[in-house]
Amino acid sequence: MSAASSDLTRLAAHELAEKLRAGEISSVEATRAHLDRIAAVDGDVHAFLHLNTSALETAAEIDARRAAGEELAPLAGVPVAIKDVLCTRDMPSTAGSRILEGWIPPYDATVVARMREAGLVPLGKTNMDEFAMGSSTEHSAFGPTRNPWDRERIPGGSGGGSAAAVAAFEAPLALGSDTGGSIRQPAAVTGSVGMKPTYGGVSRYGAIALASSLDQVGPVTRTVLDAALLHDVIGGHDPRDSTSIPDAWPSFADAARTGLREGVVKGLRIGVVSELGGGTTGGTTGGTTGGTAGGAAGASQGFQPGVLQRFHEALGLLEKQGAELVEVSAPSFEYAISAYYLILPAEASSNLAKFDSVRFGLRTEVPGGTIEDVMAATREAGFGDEVKRRIILGTYALSAGYYDAYYGSAQKVRTLIQRDFDAAFGACDVLATPSAPTTAFKLGEKLDDPLAMYLNDLTTIPANLAGVPGIALPSGLAPEDGLPAGIQFMAPARQDARLYTVAAALEALFVDAWGGPLLAQAPALA
Ligand code: GLN
Repeated sequence: MSAASSDLTRLAAHELAEKLRAGEISSVEATRAHLDRIAAVDGDVHAFLHLNTSALETAAEIDARRAAGEELAPLAGVPVAIKDVLCTRDMPSTAGSRILEGWIPPYDATVVARMREAGLVPLGKTNMDEFAMGSSTEHSAFGPTRNPWDRERIPGGSGGGSAAAVAAFEAPLALGSDTGGSIRQPAAVTGSVGMKPTYGGVSRYGAIALASSLDQVGPVTRTVLDAALLHDVIGGHDPRDSTSIPDAWPSFADAARTGLREGVVKGLRIGVVSELGGGTTGGTTGGTTGGTAGGAAGASQGFQPGVLQRFHEALGLLEKQGAELVEVSAPSFEYAISAYYLILPAEASSNLAKFDSVRFGLRTEVPGGTIEDVMAATREAGFGDEVKRRIILGTYALSAGYYDAYYGSAQKVRTLIQRDFDAAFGACDVLATPSAPTTAFKLGEKLDDPLAMYLNDLTTIPANLAGVPGIALPSGLAPEDGLPAGIQFMAPARQDARLYTVAAALEALFVDAWGGPLLAQAPALA
């Protein structure tokens, strides 16, 4: 790899876009630099499942259009990685599952079509936990992705491939999907930025569904402005998604740029959630967390001290700029994981029923068997353990006689969580929590303990249950292990722009404090 091409991979997407616009570099050069980088490091990182064999051709077309004087969209010519949960008509779309191995959809997801229209250059499809179920990417049927900061550690999940690609400088931008944290938790543990938009803000048409009342597609990037620029491309109404919000949205890039203005956080009320890392020690507050040994419910337990330390330092930086910290309590959040792990399996068991050996992908023949035998054999061979576990849980939770006790109760908890958000947003403009309770754990560490794996979503799940937006950005390196920690902000539904402003403001303070972006401190890969 030449020094020049390695330099191009270090640039943020908006910097690359600027150089492309100014004619200092071509899209072919930018794309080749990233393909070279992938060739050099992806054998170790394994962020990609499939590469786009026509990436350079697409880049050349963009260059030709630019040379012909065409007015191109802001990110035209910039390469992008796409989570394998999104349908692409020219590349396999497996959602990390054997059951879809080799399947090439007949159409593009709306977000993919919009990126192509805006002139972005797809580099390939990124690894993920099978059907987006997991927090480590170890549930991929095609082998785990490794964290570029420490290759013995997980890159988060389910979108570990997208986050690792961005953090390893294999792609300046990536798309993810977030049902319970799959954009934000991988961003947290790889030192990247990840945004889960408001439910209905970005089309899910062509996104292989996990839990339809929770799923959102969003950006994974190295800077807040880059996430906003990509969100501007993929967001907005899509008549093909019945849950898509029909209203117009403001420019998120403008919102991110507003974050750089002097005094922008002055008077901003930041709600610090007692149950999710608030207080000074992360200990119990408000008297609502008692009597819940061990599980998800021990809400403030399980936070790594260094993650909490960086979180409170970040809040301190904002306070110094005139933000006001408000301690808020959201007692129902301690039941969020329990409710989520009923609602998600219920919806997933229904969504995954379509993988029946007839319509998509794998078919396992059973000589002399009935079609039911073929379906059973195909699903037995095609789904991994975590997917089977959730299908069984979901089918049980929805079964007659148990429906009210499980699914019905979970939906009531969901309403309580929405009310806690409403109350909190009555007293503050944004809520802040750590993005994830810990830094990246070791590969294999939680693989045999599903409940320990589920606890990674402690801080991210409430936003999905309420449909509100959440953004995760790096808050520094945890002192005990030198690995990235993250801070999350949440805002009321449809206030995504506010998150970009606040996150960009904090990011600028960090860049000053650290002398550059956090990922500049990442250990060099081969
Ligand atoms: N880790 C969560 C889960 O396993 C998140 C999944 C997601 O957001 N797709 O369900």
